[in-house]
Amino acid sequence: MAIALRTLDDGAWISVNDSRQVSVSDVWTLSRGVFCECEPAYVLLEGFFGTGVDGSVVVADAVGQCLECGTRDSIDRLPVGRIVDGEFKPYGPEGIQSTVDPGAGAVRQT
Ligand SMILES: [Zn+2]
Repeated sequence: MAIALRTLDDGAWISVNDSRQVSVSDVWTLSRGVFCECEPAYVLLEGFFGTGVDGSVVVADAVGQCLECGTRDSIDRLPVGRIVDGEFKPYGPEGIQSTVDPGAGAVRQT
């Protein structure tokens, strides 16, 4: 299963199979401890600097800022969606994201 993942427009988008799928400027709800001490943390993403696949989960490395406490930091391997039957299914920023079980047989693509 070949999934083409890229960041586009200086990190404003994650492209999956040449289609812009995930945008920064959304506010993501992150569970406690992933980013800062807020629970949950509402983090405005500012840019993506990497993307990859953990098993069937598409993850992104991003920079964001917490709207509550102002923490600005990078987020490693934020789960942004899944690959289901070769199609990208976004999680959407309203869901609470936590650390992902990478699962068995993870395949990484850059
Ligand atoms: Zn915070």
